[in-house]
Amino acid sequence: MTVTLGGANLVLPDRVLGPATLTIDDDRIVEIVPAGGPVRAGVTHHDLTGHFVVPGFIDVHVHGVDGLDSLDTGAPIEAIARRLTRHGVTAFCPTTVACTPVQLAVVLAAIEAARRNPAPETARVLPAHLESNFINPEYRGAQPLGCLRVPLMGPTSRVAVGSSAGAGPDAGQLADAGSEFTAEDILAVIAAAPGQVAIVTVAPEIDGGLDLVRHLVAAGHRVSLGHSGADYDQGLAGVAAGATHATHLFNRMPPFHHRAPGLVGAVLDSETVAVEIICDGYHVHPALVRSAIARKSPSGVMAISDGTAGSGLPAGARASLGGRPITVHEHAAFLDDGTLAGSVLTMSGAFRRLVREMGFSLVEAAHLCATTPAQRLGLIGQGRLAAGMLADLVVLDADLAVQQTWVGGRLVFGSGAAS
Ligand SMILES: [Zn+2]
Repeated sequence: MTVTLGGANLVLPDRVLGPATLTIDDDRIVEIVPAGGPVRAGVTHHDLTGHFVVPGFIDVHVHGVDGLDSLDTGAPIEAIARRLTRHGVTAFCPTTVACTPVQLAVVLAAIEAARRNPAPETARVLPAHLESNFINPEYRGAQPLGCLRVPLMGPTSRVAVGSSAGAGPDAGQLADAGSEFTAEDILAVIAAAPGQVAIVTVAPEIDGGLDLVRHLVAAGHRVSLGHSGADYDQGLAGVAAGATHATHLFNRMPPFHHRAPGLVGAVLDSETVAVEIICDGYHVHPALVRSAIARKSPSGVMAISDGTAGSGLPAGARASLGGRPITVHEHAAFLDDGTLAGSVLTMSGAFRRLVREMGFSLVEAAHLCATTPAQRLGLIGQGRLAAGMLADLVVLDADLAVQQTWVGGRLVFGSGAAS
């Protein structure tokens, strides 16, 4: 089946071309030409005059949306994949906070099933991002203390991390975890689901952290430094051990200081590391978003939503993150104790803010929201508009609101009313 999208401004990797026509054959983009020309017989044509077409958004860090959390009973991965299309997402890494081995196994099985047999009208399910059991308890944010583990092998791994940092396990919270398990148990679940875990967030400074980075990198995972109190040297050690990613830069790591640049300075200073930034204008001030992107270039930064089940819900709504209640506020989601618990951002919201509020061009925003995550995750054929690429794309109106989302040449969200 051949489809043409005509009259739109196409956001290409190096320029905006428009008005122009993009032709889709089966699941691929086969041609991009300026202007239009007569609509060919036997072709489904969409007149998108006044609209923008951008590559489908790829969110490497999203816990859920519309009241659904990846760790909810039943692992609603397919439902999340369906709901995210309305926000222009065409591929995403289902993201989990620290959880038990049983919970993790359930999620990874759901991810495997969704990837093996994709449901219609859903975003592509990518391998998971584990925000992980192997983080610094002092920088855990909304993650459950009782599920954190030191990645040392042996019986000591049952003890939660942090006793050396003066933040030993709280007996009540350990009990809340509901089960006794070790670091090895978690690693065994990961190993038993080959190809289903893309990114693992690790704090490199915890006991055994660097060995764990090396172990995970050797096993083919992308290790991300984050939820960490690492200083500059500890951050660089994590990079030297093979980490190539940083989890929500600036959030849940020591503040950047000109004499103590910390993990922020280490990853900004490392050419091999790409960083995630929550682009809601609240988690990170726009001035720092601009500064970080100026340093790394858009090819070194991935806009993420870090969206929770609260994303898409109105202020005041209740939802959950890894089984713990959260409340939606205007700018973010919070645990009942006031802890910031992720965002209520969506990728279309991130794209819009990057362009409208932070001063980035459409081309730069497309790199941040699609091209760079695709490149860094090695997603062949995704992340940009060009002949030969998969037809994963988003149609935005003049206000940059999502009107249509296409995955593999199929309209998965929005009406065909524009045709
Ligand atoms: Zn997160």
